[in-house]
Amino acid sequence: MNCPFCGNADSKVIDSRESGGGVRRRRECNACDLRFTTYEQVQSRSLMIIKRDGTREEFDREKLWASLTKACAKRPLPTGLLEKALIEIESQLADIGKTEIPSKTLGEFTMSRLKDMDRVAYIRFASVYRDFQDIETFRTEIDALLKPNKEMLESNNQLSFLEDPDVVLSSPKRRRGRPSGGAMVGS
Ligand SMILES: [Zn+2]
Repeated sequence: MNCPFCGNADSKVIDSRESGGGVRRRRECNACDLRFTTYEQVQSRSLMIIKRDGTREEFDREKLWASLTKACAKRPLPTGLLEKALIEIESQLADIGKTEIPSKTLGEFTMSRLKDMDRVAYIRFASVYRDFQDIETFRTEIDALLKPNKEMLESNNQLSFLEDPDVVLSSPKRRRGRPSGGAMVGS
């Protein structure tokens, strides 16, 4: 998509919204900083995702948004970052320029975006997305993510997800202490 003002090929998306079955994008040229609007209709309409079993299903923006918000639930992320990630994943898909894309590719784009954003969100998404056969690879990835940055992670309290009730169902804090002092006699 070349800039209509200077012809430069690089632009960044600054806003994206549904418009008459397509997507209206506001872009800013990386060379001259001028803004222009594009309507991307054909791609967003006809993009099919090839599932693992070979069946096709139309790319569903809402579904992708749901997985992103689920992975990032309760994470300390700046407002707008998730929207930006969604737009970037969509742009990446559009940039492939094909009408059919394997679900694996979509999953990988999403994972790489989440990996840059938030480790916990990445692990959550990857644990749902990955095949069970792939569990060894997944474990290696988690180890690689956690080990070298253990100190940094701890200082950032990024491991607090371990205490997240969604992740760990039984918490040792659950045990209720008996009131001490024996002052429980009704008045
Ligand atoms: Zn320009």
